[in-house]
Amino acid sequence: KTTQRLDKILSNMGYGSRAELKKMVKQGNITVNGAAVKDSGLQVDPHQDVLEVEGERVVYKEFIYLMLHKPPGVVSATEDLRDKTVIDILDEKDKIFDPFPVGRLDKDTEGLLLLTNDGKLAHELLSPRKHVPKTYEANVRGLVNEEDAAAFSQGVTLDDGYVTLPAELNILSVEETEDGFLSRISLTIHEGKFHQVKRMFEAVGKVVVYLKRVTMGGLALDPSLPIGSYRELTEEELQLLY
Ligand code: URA
Repeated sequence: KTTQRLDKILSNMGYGSRAELKKMVKQGNITVNGAAVKDSGLQVDPHQDVLEVEGERVVYKEFIYLMLHKPPGVVSATEDLRDKTVIDILDEKDKIFDPFPVGRLDKDTEGLLLLTNDGKLAHELLSPRKHVPKTYEANVRGLVNEEDAAAFSQGVTLDDGYVTLPAELNILSVEETEDGFLSRISLTIHEGKFHQVKRMFEAVGKVVVYLKRVTMGGLALDPSLPIGSYRELTEEELQLLY
């Protein structure tokens, strides 16, 4: 079905409630293909018909794709009784599209989180068979070494007996602090088990004290995007995911 009610299309896009749109129609402020609309329930094809509201062309979009720099302390869910969710961060004009997070980051994990209402894309990115790579940066207590890198490239056994797929570990730097060494690493995994990065380090006897996701598939976290803020993906970024 290609046509929909005019008031439904416009209210979904944030132009107002059905009642408000009815009023705008009455005032002659909405046109379709150049003619003033008389009935706010008119069937229109948003892809074909030219809609104008108060003289401004309506650019129709069905899907929204948002890159969020997730801060710690919020949960990757659409609703939560106790905690603030990633959806609570969004502006009303974006919430109207009903976006949801593509996969999960732990409450204390930061970094790249994609939010969309495009179920097909979300499904593709999360499909266990697709092995979409995800890169994380982490601070790990102690000295992460080449043995750990070798173990991760082979696969390690998690606490539930699951053996991970080969993953690439890079040691970025090592720092000496008051209570011992701290290693900065990056790790690319090709699957997404629950708490995977933390549990992989547990498997080699180490503790992740800070975790941030920096890429998902071809998409990288925009380094100029401040923590806690978000923006729409560019056309080019969207192409990288599809
Ligand atoms: N691995 C984790 O342990 N936590 C995350 O949030 C993501 C990957």
